[in-house]
Amino acid sequence: MYYDQEISSVFEELRTSEKGLSPEDAEKRLEEYGKNELKEKEKVSVFRLFLSQFKSILIFILIIASVVSAALGEAIDAVVILFTVFLAGVLGFVQEYRAEKAIELLKSLTSPEAVVIRGGSEKEIPSTELVPGDVILLQTGDRIPADARIIKEFNLKVDESSLTGESVPVQKTTDALPADTAEADRKNMVYAGTAVAYGRGKAVITATGMKTSFGELAGLLGTIERSRTPLQESLDKFGRWIGAATLVIVAFVAVLGIFLGFPPLDMFLWGVALAVAAIPEALPAVVTVGLGLGVRRMVKRHALVRKLPSVETLGATNVICSDKTGTLTQNKMTVEGMYVNGKILRVTGQGYNPEGKFLKGDLEKSGSEVSADDEHLRVLLLGAALCNDSNLYKEEDVWKITGDPTEAALVVAATKAGFEKSELDRKYPRLAEIPFSSESKRMTTFNKLEDGLDSFLDSELVAFSKGAPEVILGSCTKIFLNGEVKALTPEQKQEISEIVKELADQALRVMAFSFRPLEEGFSPDKVSSGEIPAEKVEEDMVFSGLVGMRDPPREEVKAAIKTCEDAGIKTVMITGDHKITAAAIARELGILKENDLTLTGSELDSLEDKEFEDRVEKVSVYARVYPAHKLRVVEALKKKGYVVAMTGDGVNDAPALKAADMGIAMGITGTDVSKEASSMILTDDNFASIVSAVEEGRNIFKNIKNFITYGLSAHIGEVLIVLIAILGWQILPLLAVQILWINLITDGLPPMALSVEPPDRGLMRQKPRNVEQGLITRREIAAGFGLGGLIAAQALTVLAWALDSGFSTSKLQTLIFTLIVFSEMFNAFNWRSDRYSVFSLGLFTNKALVYAVLTTIILQLMVIYVPFLQFAFRTVPLSLYEWGIILALASTTLISMEIVKHISAGKER
Ligand code: ATP
Repeated sequence: MYYDQEISSVFEELRTSEKGLSPEDAEKRLEEYGKNELKEKEKVSVFRLFLSQFKSILIFILIIASVVSAALGEAIDAVVILFTVFLAGVLGFVQEYRAEKAIELLKSLTSPEAVVIRGGSEKEIPSTELVPGDVILLQTGDRIPADARIIKEFNLKVDESSLTGESVPVQKTTDALPADTAEADRKNMVYAGTAVAYGRGKAVITATGMKTSFGELAGLLGTIERSRTPLQESLDKFGRWIGAATLVIVAFVAVLGIFLGFPPLDMFLWGVALAVAAIPEALPAVVTVGLGLGVRRMVKRHALVRKLPSVETLGATNVICSDKTGTLTQNKMTVEGMYVNGKILRVTGQGYNPEGKFLKGDLEKSGSEVSADDEHLRVLLLGAALCNDSNLYKEEDVWKITGDPTEAALVVAATKAGFEKSELDRKYPRLAEIPFSSESKRMTTFNKLEDGLDSFLDSELVAFSKGAPEVILGSCTKIFLNGEVKALTPEQKQEISEIVKELADQALRVMAFSFRPLEEGFSPDKVSSGEIPAEKVEEDMVFSGLVGMRDPPREEVKAAIKTCEDAGIKTVMITGDHKITAAAIARELGILKENDLTLTGSELDSLEDKEFEDRVEKVSVYARVYPAHKLRVVEALKKKGYVVAMTGDGVNDAPALKAADMGIAMGITGTDVSKEASSMILTDDNFASIVSAVEEGRNIFKNIKNFITYGLSAHIGEVLIVLIAILGWQILPLLAVQILWINLITDGLPPMALSVEPPDRGLMRQKPRNVEQGLITRREIAAGFGLGGLIAAQALTVLAWALDSGFSTSKLQTLIFTLIVFSEMFNAFNWRSDRYSVFSLGLFTNKALVYAVLTTIILQLMVIYVPFLQFAFRTVPLSLYEWGIILALASTTLISMEIVKHISAGKER
């Protein structure tokens, strides 16, 4: 089965070729074989989701209550209770359905893509559309999307630990293997679910979806973690605690009521209603909606949250460690300076447009033009173009690139001198390569120069290297100077290092270039297979020059960093780039301040853990680091008690992303492996999007806290008034159905509306939340009792007035019932913010709340004025005077909170 066949026969059997399938053929096969995905576990149907709302114990108790009422002849009560049960079910359903939709949306957005060759050209398509016979390209960090037979490889190593448990990556080959090779040893195959650890390759798909050998494809990326968030957990606990406390109180009062002579059925129904009112059963669902809606808003702001709990972490983040290239900067590189043959050249031109000149002289001043024929310039640019995987092309009159922008900038520079990369590639084909890695910080290719290029390059085979200056210089023993290859003296090395510093000081990214003619008989294949180690070739090289390129900071980043500073969040730059370049850009962006430290990877290596921890808070730039250093940074910061967000894109960044409180992967340039390890993906790779996400995270937390406090005050108010009235006056101030109704409308719409309250102006000016501190602190409990007490006091005032005026019980109850509903509506406005006056926020800026309150008011009016509802809820119409009193009393809920906000704002000032 494929592994024991030659490549040509694999192609034949799969009816395909190296050029891939034609788009039509692929479409047909997709129909035949189905999508490349695992059959999803059964989805919860809408109906089941609806039914599941009725599984809660509370609903069960209510149903019993309704049956008991019916049995005792209280048909109206029975119907009303059933009706509220139904409405509560609908509400719960709508909330959960919305949360579910938000999660589904995320899932579709994070599904992986694959690069496939169809009809002879490369394309990126969703992995689910791959079919047997498709030719795919694989590169470091890719998750392998289906089972495939390798047809080409450059040092391709695959991490198969997800299948075999073996952590050492497996070197792959293209050779046919004996028929009796065990599955795990089939080194010419790659399997769905594993990941490319190193190198690159091309493979033809042999099986997709459920047919893959290990069937474990599972589209890891597409899975969104549903684990309950710490917030939900603590709310559950909080809910249970309140529930238990209420049950005790309610049972006590109900028994007491019976002793005092109230009818047992009334007391029973009343007890049930009060218990339902006091237990915040809707809370978890509303919180999920709050999280879900927040997550949707984040998507709009280019942040995709993969794990719901991380929304909470986001809000508490107090350090953001960010990559430089592409996240803080635009990753739109332009070569601006060069150093060849002992001279600095300035390169003119803009962006990817390959028109420009090479001028001699200082970068700042103008100089005389250097001809593109200059031997030294040509050698450097030849290496830059050949040791390069990117491409430049024109589409609708716009110059575009494929591949790494650092490399593309080199292609642009080479084209400016008249070197066409595609032509060079054809003339001087690449026979082997040692790919770039963040660890080695260099790349080498082996090119055939058969027709001889220049006198000094008369060898048939030449190795070209490019990479970080100190790495390249470290491997050079010679230099190409004044038309000759000479020994490289320590003085020259020193001089070159000075030039590197000079270029880096101007915030340029500096790269060095070298070459080495290889002796006859040298076999590039042995390098590819690893038989000749990379160090053996990347030595004794000839230095050919330096290139400095500019990567401008992203425009919005400076402001985002300022926002972080105001919000008490420290920004740290972590980069593979040179210390001086990194520091120059960090200073420009406001990351590196006067007393801050800059640390390089090797300096970090020389520090003991303890020493590093003592210093870590001062460091704002890490330069020339390896991915492994990121892990150390995360660990040290976490030890110091920070909540750390860390960005990453490469395969080797995965451990640091996992270790960070918030691992953030890059949506555009990130590898599949890094995305899987992350808790959030930036769809635009932009630092500013992290800051927006933090703001959303804080906002979600604030909103949840606010509507919980709102609910808490409402429940405390209800329980208090009933308790006091019964104990003090032996009067039932509210009927069971009325309590149920209040509960339904206060728990229903307003909290949903509060969960969409936009961020307020102070959100990013406060210090990050302390993670140790729970959601409900003493402040919230005080607010709950304060406002709850106030609402109870309003109701008692009405009670006293009604008793004094000798109103009927129905009137008394209608008055209290209506008062509480209106008081809750005023209260809902209070909780749009716990610190800002509603009037300063703009009374109508939360439209959802305005509609929620209007709907509730209309419903309440119906309950009082529509005859059959009057009958069901035992209400009577109210006079204008009575309305006046109720509204005046209810409005004190808003007025007193406004006063409290005003006083505490004064204290803060
Ligand atoms: P960041 O970590 O912020 O993304 P970076 O892109 O500079 O920064 P790396 O990609 O690890 O980090 O690159 C480290 C160094 O390796 C660069 O400063 C450069 O000198 C060199 N380098 C980058 N890309 C290549 C490449 N394609 N070929 C050879 N050398 C490269």
